[in-house]
Amino acid sequence: MTKKPKVARAELVGVFGDPVDENPTGVMQEAAFAAKGLHWRYITLLVRSKDLAAAMAGLRAMSFKGINLTIPHKNAVIRYLDEVAPDATLMGAVNTVRREGHRLIGGNTDGKGFMRSLREDAEVDPTGKRVVVLGAGGAASAITVELALADATHITVVNRTLTRGQTLTKLLNEKTPIKADFVPWDSPYAVPADTDLLINATPIGLHPDVDDAPDIDYDTIRAGMTVCDVIPNPPHTLFLRRAEARGAQTLDGLGMLVYQGAIGFEMWTGVDAPIEVMHRALAKVFAEEPSE
Ligand code: NDP
Repeated sequence: MTKKPKVARAELVGVFGDPVDENPTGVMQEAAFAAKGLHWRYITLLVRSKDLAAAMAGLRAMSFKGINLTIPHKNAVIRYLDEVAPDATLMGAVNTVRREGHRLIGGNTDGKGFMRSLREDAEVDPTGKRVVVLGAGGAASAITVELALADATHITVVNRTLTRGQTLTKLLNEKTPIKADFVPWDSPYAVPADTDLLINATPIGLHPDVDDAPDIDYDTIRAGMTVCDVIPNPPHTLFLRRAEARGAQTLDGLGMLVYQGAIGFEMWTGVDAPIEVMHRALAKVFAEEPSE
């Protein structure tokens, strides 16, 4: 019997960002490759904005199977791609690129990760739901576009900066089937009683040691609502704890982060993602981080 030669070359994926040193995605993806016996590597790479063109050319030259993009490249990368998925085009942001032959195809898994966590962890079907989203940045855009495309009924965008909130609301009204309203966020926000889903899509809650929670009237949260946070670390934010105290169902941002990675893993490898392994790997990284 002839012995099969050992393959030295690994398939490569990774992330380009600046800053990127503390990006935890590599730990989760490498754990998934190991669990599935795949000879793949995920490499965390510091790429400055001025070097993105060269980095994308390098990606092609070195036959990477794909790449994640984080701050500040999610929009700028689009010009270097051969194709962009319709939802990512609407958001104007790509966070995952996969390679098909010589073509680089961009998509956005942030909103899809939220949707999968909503359906699988919270067991909530977004169809027909009335949604309030706090924030109008990248995470809010990704989540609201996917909710709109999944037949949610109505979205209220609540944001501190008028122009940003109005821009997202206009995009939702003009480019998706949903009806959206904008509410300026200049005082404690009273959540309308008919809200089904309340989502914090701001960075408020990243600092667990202080009274860091979105400025809303918590007495307006009802037991029938599903209250979601995008903050993955700490997953059990003050916002979610206050919502639980009101009897609401809650969903943390760790699940969203795991599922967006799982969708990328499946896009690249064609193999079902080991969700539990990825979840455990990320939770372990976060548990080991020193608190601020
Ligand atoms: P952006 O900078 O694009 O947007 C931030 C949004 O939060 C803006 O609407 C901003 O309002 C609002 N905001 C920030 N600080 C405050 C404040 N003190 N008071 C009121 N509003 C505030 O960030 P992203 O959308 O990319 O990220 C937001 C959060 O989502 C981050 O913490 C990130 O870690 C998390 N995230 C989680 C993911 C996951 O998988 N779990 C995936 C992606 C992001 P304004 O327009 O007024 O500045």
